[in-house]
Amino acid sequence: MPHFSFRRDLITKPIFRAAKHALPTLSDTEREAIEAGDVWWDADLFSGNPDWKKLLGFRPARLSNDEQKFLAGPVEQLCGMLDDWKINWELHDLPPAVWEFLKANKFFAMIIPTEYGGLGFSAYAHSEVIRKLSSRSLSAAVTAMVPNSLGPGELLLQFGTKAQQDYWLPRLARGEEIPCFGLTSPEAGSDAASMVDVGVVCRGSFEGREVLGIRLNWHKRYITLAPIATVLGLAFKLRDPDHLVGQQTDIGITLALVPTNLPGVSIGRRHLPAMHVFQNGPNWGHEVFIPMDHVIGGVEQCGKGWKMLMSALAAGRGISLPSLSAAAAAFAADLTGAYARVREQFHVSISRFEAIQERLGRMAATAYLLDAARRMTCASLDDGHHPAVVTAIMKAQATERMRISVNDAMDVHGGKGIIEGPLNYLGSLYRGVPIGITVEGANIVTRSLIQFGQGAIRSHPYLLKEMTALQDADSERGLDAFDKAFWAHVGHSFANAFRTWVRAWTGGLFSPAPDAGAARPFYRQLSRYSSAFAFAVDLALLSLGGGLKRQEMISARFGDILSELYLSSAALKRWNDEGRQEADLALLEWCMKSSFVVIAMRFDEIIGNFPVRPVAWLMRLLIQPLGPSTRGPTDRVTQACAAIITNPCAARERLTVGLYEPKADSSDGVALVKRAFAKTVAVQPIRDRMRGARLPDIDEALAAGIINTEDAAQLKSAVDVVSMAIAVNDFSPEELALPGASKNGDGSSQAKIHRPAAE
Ligand SMILES: Cc1cc2nc3c(=O)[nH]c(=O)nc-3n(C[C@H](O)[C@H](O)[C@H](O)COP(=O)(O)OP(=O)(O)OC[C@H]3O[C@@H](n4cnc5c(N)ncnc54)[C@H](O)[C@@H]3O)c2cc1C
Repeated sequence: MPHFSFRRDLITKPIFRAAKHALPTLSDTEREAIEAGDVWWDADLFSGNPDWKKLLGFRPARLSNDEQKFLAGPVEQLCGMLDDWKINWELHDLPPAVWEFLKANKFFAMIIPTEYGGLGFSAYAHSEVIRKLSSRSLSAAVTAMVPNSLGPGELLLQFGTKAQQDYWLPRLARGEEIPCFGLTSPEAGSDAASMVDVGVVCRGSFEGREVLGIRLNWHKRYITLAPIATVLGLAFKLRDPDHLVGQQTDIGITLALVPTNLPGVSIGRRHLPAMHVFQNGPNWGHEVFIPMDHVIGGVEQCGKGWKMLMSALAAGRGISLPSLSAAAAAFAADLTGAYARVREQFHVSISRFEAIQERLGRMAATAYLLDAARRMTCASLDDGHHPAVVTAIMKAQATERMRISVNDAMDVHGGKGIIEGPLNYLGSLYRGVPIGITVEGANIVTRSLIQFGQGAIRSHPYLLKEMTALQDADSERGLDAFDKAFWAHVGHSFANAFRTWVRAWTGGLFSPAPDAGAARPFYRQLSRYSSAFAFAVDLALLSLGGGLKRQEMISARFGDILSELYLSSAALKRWNDEGRQEADLALLEWCMKSSFVVIAMRFDEIIGNFPVRPVAWLMRLLIQPLGPSTRGPTDRVTQACAAIITNPCAARERLTVGLYEPKADSSDGVALVKRAFAKTVAVQPIRDRMRGARLPDIDEALAAGIINTEDAAQLKSAVDVVSMAIAVNDFSPEELALPGASKNGDGSSQAKIHRPAAE
């Protein structure tokens, strides 16, 4: 019998009982998602008092010598082999030589350790490979990223038995096996756990032996690499009606490796995702029998599939799509800055128009921010963390911001971005954006349910402890644990309320900030917003309890604030790690001030819409009594950011580092714009002289002696290169008559619905 405690037994106990009803309850799948991975800088942001020294002390991501050699060698070589137009519009696949190169150089084995024959790369190296490939061909980048992301390789590494690892990993590393991972089915998309694909434990015959195994029936779709996969990582619900492996009938989601040559497996037809031709398609299985040792992790892992998936996702989600998105933003900034500089309308470079500079400034700063966050997240993964909330933020935010940057790039390019053809380097990216938005957790659901919903529970210093205590089957032990967590939580809330009030009413002037030079005021504002966030979260949880989960619009806004806090702290870290470059200060200022505006607006929207009005009034009083009062980057800062990408300079190189540079003298669309950019910049002083003399015509300026013959030749060559750079493709009607492009195999063009039950 535990001793009597006044606080626990008389004060905490009634709260404990009431909280059982008020706090959100967790379903098994939610609990498993929340328990996957760990917390990292997100926990500091949730504390309301982030430790800036800790942030600046995180070791920046670095490449080993071998990783650098791989990027300079095979990755460069591969990029040189890729012709995205040909791949997407003519071959509808990567060329055979590229497939061979990918396998032979172990692009599919970046995460497989060297002892199994893989490359054993760091998360940062993996990310750099994806970055370079993404700047050349999305189809190639996706093909290379998928086996290294959520799938058989990662799952075997984390959960496979020794025998499974010894058998499969070397085969995957050598490219003898091509993996894919099938989770999504027609009925179960975002709610993947509701899948109807089923496996039943039974005895059966496998390779001539009578063994215990699983009979599978499934129908999956949208599965990347499926049409050419030799091994399918399959998620299904396992049942054991005859209790052959235990007492449970419905064992739950289980993951197994299914060789695609087994009888009953149908695979091979293809989807066309936004006209990107990376291999993707549906597959289904009818009465397919696999032995028990094909379950990843063996019998002990039966029913633990959801947890395994969430755990694998906690890391993978932070690498592939964020790297692709950061690369896309940098690529868009690079090419759009160059194009705007060479394109003239109304007799001036369009880069001189303020309305264009507004877009260019945003693109430059977005490239800076996304790369900052990508590097910081990779560094955390390489440091052994699996920060599930951070990687979900990265996936959703990086892809959303890529969308804004690519749209800006399209708008600035005008028709040049729209007309498809080998000279168009943007159309493919533009079509690819929704793929990034949708896969690995569609962004709408990720923003509203995962970034904050799971984040609030996972990264909060006390909430998960309280919820675990409330669900403890031993209620005495639960009460004890709750008593400790709850009162610590109360102290934390009061401290944050006080901090929030002081920091808000003093405009953040005295909030904590490290000695960070010109960036110091930004830290102060982030400290202010971090305490306001922690305080508002506590109030929202206290007043809405489990109801907060259903208030997706409120949750999404909290998710946005948390995301802004994360991304802008990454920008601060980047500026510091890169030696506090004076020339990059405008980029940092743009990122920080834009973040502050979003944060202030989201607080205002939360306060304006919060259903419990007295709580909203308290939030307003303590967080921003005068409403959102921050204004975002000034026009001068936006113009300074735009200038970085419209002029060759070190700051521009820092933004575009790691992207593929096609050979300068090639006829590639990217190379042409780069060449025109270099020439335009080189002849600028000559043109300035002509403009000063009010003689814009080359021949007239030559005749008047304003320029010499060499200048004139240079100018004429620049004009030629610019006209090549602004050129677009056209096609004959015959060239456009792609046979059967809009038809089914039988010539019909109606939708066909595959029903596996009829197989
Ligand atoms: C090109 C491509 C490649 C893919 N590769 C793979 C793969 O290799 N393996 C694999 O298993 N899957 C793969 N997928 C599937 C992908 O993960 C799913 O498309 C994704 O999970 C969304 O499912 P859905 O498309 O059915 O959309 P739905 O689930 O039908 O969602 C529709 C919309 O509703 C929103 N939504 C859903 N629930 C909620 C909610 N509770 N609150 C708010 N909004 C909500 C979503 O955000 C989305 O905007 C791929 C998909 C594509 C397009």
